[in-house]
Amino acid sequence: MVDDLGVIIEIIDPLTYGELPSGIIKHEGFLCPGFVNMHCHLELSHLKGKFAEKTGLVGFIDQMRLSRHGEMIHESISAADREMTENGIVAVGDISNTNHTIEIKKESSIYYHTFVELFDIAPGRAEKVFKDGQSLLKQFSESGLSSSLVPHAPYTVSPALLSLLSKSYFNSAQLSTIHNQETEDEDTMFLSQSGDIYDFLVGLNPAVKEHEHDNNSSLEYILDHLHHFEKLLLVHNTFTKEEHIKEAHEFSDDLYWCFCPNANMYIENQLPDVEIFRRNNCKITIGTDSYASNRTLSIVDELKTISDHFPEISLHEMLNWACLNGAAFLGKEDVLGSFERGKRPGIVLIENVDLLSGKLLNESTSKRIDL
Ligand SMILES: [Zn+2]
Repeated sequence: MVDDLGVIIEIIDPLTYGELPSGIIKHEGFLCPGFVNMHCHLELSHLKGKFAEKTGLVGFIDQMRLSRHGEMIHESISAADREMTENGIVAVGDISNTNHTIEIKKESSIYYHTFVELFDIAPGRAEKVFKDGQSLLKQFSESGLSSSLVPHAPYTVSPALLSLLSKSYFNSAQLSTIHNQETEDEDTMFLSQSGDIYDFLVGLNPAVKEHEHDNNSSLEYILDHLHHFEKLLLVHNTFTKEEHIKEAHEFSDDLYWCFCPNANMYIENQLPDVEIFRRNNCKITIGTDSYASNRTLSIVDELKTISDHFPEISLHEMLNWACLNGAAFLGKEDVLGSFERGKRPGIVLIENVDLLSGKLLNESTSKRIDL
């Protein structure tokens, strides 16, 4: 039972409660708390259906670089926000490179934390890029929106830029995130200064050759150079190996890992080895990524893909990733993430499920039922 504001006042087990109160609404399916979508780029919503699939990461970046921004940006952001609200997403960690999403985030019932993203590979430009990022961050914070500055990916941030970010986290610890090991070539670049990503970046800016890397992986490079974050969310992890996880856990206890399985299938046609993360007690979260690399912004669609490839993982465990762990990363676990008295997590109905086995089906969908 919830009050008029959606705060849980009592949890009723219909099997033991006896006569149910009048006015009760019956649904068939599973109820779960609102989802926390830990990785999205809302401002890219106008790219829905525009990019070729399975091109690999370099092909994807090239399509991003060459894409033109039409006039549908605002309408597409609004439609994406509505879609997420209706399918049960209550909080989003959203990457932004522009101020395009500010107005919609201010009006939305979704709680957004915006990661204002920095990237630049030329060390001489780090100060300028950092200052521009701070100005954009200020626009979000002055609009009353939770936000922090973050790096894009190991291969697109110079040590100088990571050092500036670390200094800012030292002054005031922030939630941070980075795209991590989305393609195999990320590690190749840091191990041997070669591979498709390296060649692509050198083609864009020969200054990349000046970086002398002596890291075993792109993740090690980040953890060597990025310090003082409050928590760090590593996104994708498609090519992360168990040894990388173990090393990362030695660096910090404040790491969270985000899977965006449908985007991984869209771009690289490969999924992370989810088992190694479970085995190492990783704090796992789920993201939809953006419409540049996904067909829907639905957490249930992401869980279906995990379930298809890793059928031994229970829906209950995956819902913990998709609800409570994301809420904990955002520091919102006192309100969101689980059904507990006093919380206001949002109530979601997952329909068309196999009620006997407790499994998602291809046709499973979710909808918010307490709005
Ligand atoms: Zn992303």
